Formats: sequence, C-alpha cells, structure tokens
Amino acid sequence: MQTASKNPRVWPELKADCSRCTGLCCVAYPFIDAGKFGYNKPANERCRHLGPDCRCSIHGERAEMGFKGCITFDCNGAGQRVANEIFQSVDWRHDAVAATEILDAFRALTHVHAALSQLKLLENLPFTDEQADRFFSLFAWLEPVSGWTEKSLESFPAIEAERAVQDFAASMKGTEAGRALAERLSGSSR
Ligand code: SF4
Ligand code: SF4
Repeated sequence: MQTASKNPRVWPELKADCSRCTGLCCVAYPFIDAGKFGYNKPANERCRHLGPDCRCSIHGERAEMGFKGCITFDCNGAGQRVANEIFQSVDWRHDAVAATEILDAFRALTHVHAALSQLKLLENLPFTDEQADRFFSLFAWLEPVSGWTEKSLESFPAIEAERAVQDFAASMKGTEAGRALAERLSGSSR
C-alpha cells in the first residue's frame, strides 16, 4: 500500500482566471439549449453579449437573462492556459484562421483540465502499488513534461482521457482508496 503523496509533477492551474483569458468559452461553444442560454448560436461565433474587451456585458444579470449555463460552466483553468501559454501572442479576435485553431485547442484542453481536476481529487489516497502506478500514468498522460501544444492537443483523445479518469475512480470501489475517496467526497459535500 502506498500513498501517492510524493507527486513528482506540478499540477497546472486548475481554477479559471477570466481576467487572463479572452472570453474563449463565450465563443467556442454552440448555444443549443434555450433553457441554459438565451438564444441559439453555432460554435466558434462570439456571444452577442461578449464585449470588445472580452468581458461579459451582462455578467450580473446572466441568470435573469436566461444564461444559467454560463454560470455553471467551468473551464478549470484551460482558458487562460490556451490564451497565455499555448497561443502566447495570438488573439482570436484579430486572426480568423488562428481563431479556429485556438478554439479547437481550447475545447480539447478543457477536457484535459476537467480530467486533471478529477484526478486531483484522488491525490493522496491510500493506493495499492497498482493504483499508484495508474494514478501517475494518468497524470503523465494528461500533463506531459513537454507541455501542451496546438499540435499535441490536436491528436489527443481528450474525451477518452476524461473517461479514463472516471473509470479509474470507479475501479477503486471496494478498496481502501475507494473508501477513503467516498469519505473525502462526503466530507466535501457537507
Ligand atoms: S474560458 Fe475559462 S478563463 Fe476564459 S472566460 Fe471562460 S471561464 Fe473564464
Ligand atoms: S452571456 Fe456572458 S458569460 Fe455567457 S457566453 Fe455570453 S458573454 Fe460569455
């Protein structure tokens, strides 16, 4: 039995910081659910409420205006990472070709960061050796040493990766790590 507390890797920032982003989520996703978004729009089209400064012009009234989906959305830090790390000096607002690439990368990295956020919940559980190996291999897959690039994100099976973390968590059921996880989750929901 071992506790995967000596994580040899540094976690990326997993909390959204909209002040360092260019409103990527307000452009990347389609609005197709009238109950969550106030009108319909396709993917890769800026929301009509996104100001030229990339700030939401109805931020305080989103619920009243039918945009509850925006309130619950969380990019887990993928937005600022794409804007500042992966596409350092390229702004989707000024380059239509780059915009498609930036938004593709953002959607992929959002899955990666969702998976990393779920994986972080499993950190320091009393793993068996096999579980610890799986934890570290998932971490290495989701956070490569060389970092993420537009190219590496393009071919990465981001949705499967998210599922792999969920499957790993589910596979712990009945083990000491699974019991510790259940306790951890019940503690965080109190
Ligand atoms: S993509 Fe993330 S960081 Fe950027 S505006 Fe949306 S929630 Fe904020
Ligand atoms: S309503 Fe505001 S937060 Fe929601 S997508 Fe539009 S600009 Fe972004």
